[in-house]
Amino acid sequence: MTPARAELWSNPMQSVFVLDKNRKPLMPCHPARARELLRKGKAAVFRRYPFTIILKEREGGDVQNTTFKIDPGSKQTGMVLVADFQRGKRVIWAGVLEHRGQQIKAALDSRSALRKGRRARHTRYRPARYNNRRKPDGWLPPSLLSRVENIWTWFCRVNHSCPLTVITQELVKFDTQLLQNAEISGVEYQQGELQGFEVREYLLEKWGRRCAYCGAKALPLEIEHINPKSRGGTNRVSNLTLACHDCNQAKGTQTAAEFDHPEIQKLAKLPLKDAAAVNVTRWALYNRLKLTGLNVEIGTGGRTKFNRTQQGYPKAHWIDAACVGESGERVYLKPDQPYLSIIAAGHGSRQMCRTDKYGFPTRHRLRQKRHFGFQTGDRVRADVKSGKYAGKHTGRLACRATGTFDIKTVKGKVTVKHSTCTTIHHSDGYTYAKGEKALFLPIATARGISRQI
Ligand SMILES: [Zn+2]
Repeated sequence: MTPARAELWSNPMQSVFVLDKNRKPLMPCHPARARELLRKGKAAVFRRYPFTIILKEREGGDVQNTTFKIDPGSKQTGMVLVADFQRGKRVIWAGVLEHRGQQIKAALDSRSALRKGRRARHTRYRPARYNNRRKPDGWLPPSLLSRVENIWTWFCRVNHSCPLTVITQELVKFDTQLLQNAEISGVEYQQGELQGFEVREYLLEKWGRRCAYCGAKALPLEIEHINPKSRGGTNRVSNLTLACHDCNQAKGTQTAAEFDHPEIQKLAKLPLKDAAAVNVTRWALYNRLKLTGLNVEIGTGGRTKFNRTQQGYPKAHWIDAACVGESGERVYLKPDQPYLSIIAAGHGSRQMCRTDKYGFPTRHRLRQKRHFGFQTGDRVRADVKSGKYAGKHTGRLACRATGTFDIKTVKGKVTVKHSTCTTIHHSDGYTYAKGEKALFLPIATARGISRQI
């Protein structure tokens, strides 16, 4: 192992992506190495986010196996890059992508409410638009589609900057196959086996992550037999529910009906219906990733949790991504290593006219988006010589046609003239921040969690 590689291993940092002079991706390097190359003038900064350098002389080079791992969520998606070193697998880059599905839904709801209001007002005759529009196959609502597109964009960016060999994605929350097999063969769920984790994820989803008897949330839940084992109850998933410690103790050896909750017995018999709907974006993403021709490995949520717990890592979106699938069994990472926080901000709206709360037009916008070479969403540095905001500021730009811009910095908003600004990163629909450190929650051991969730 070369010294640079050894350093990379012992001190996990966010690696820097490297391109050769023909823009072909090489193995990412340690930031210290990148700084040295930049200082000696052998490389230039190619892109800020993700930080990428381009070598001026070199063509081609050795590459190792690298895996792009994704844990898609509804609000946030964890993404990591894992490289195979001689000593094992290690996370070399991590990012957490924040989606804007909720914002999109809210914007569409508000638009449709205003339209409905205007059309119902009988101010003039508007002919009905016939309900003859059909949605194409594979159509996704815009809020869901945006999640798929966000992840796809970031896959493409990483793929252009790093020689990827495998993609790993968490596809479903639990493996129904394993669940069924577990039922058929009667494998004990208490043993901390992989099946146990699948069963737990299934139960959490089915019972809404709360105590089935008192509805308590956000406290340790225990797996509970509806028909107690001492009375001949089985370990089948249809006989299991979730209860808080108090309810579980109070119920004792009674059946759910005897415990005054006959409805639980009925609910338990119903299979989980909307599991497929929950996973719709994941499937859409999977189908798209398959088209890349790269090897796509899939994993379940149960397996991710199992891998993470076995290795004693805390819960964080990017750590979950590292633990996805069979390849997540042994991955080296430092929970407090830095990661890139990526927030989807969109590309602005097409609306030319803003309305008041009754839907009447109040303000109009210019057709032009760029002013003085800048546009809203650019990351800029401003060097202000005098005045109230004298000093150096870096942040996201809000552009105005007048040439007086606002910059959103970590410390707050500053107002500057366009002549003081220099672009660092052009607007690309995302804003960036330094990721927060992963929270260290008390981690239960593999045996300790066997009955607690
Ligand atoms: Zn309870």
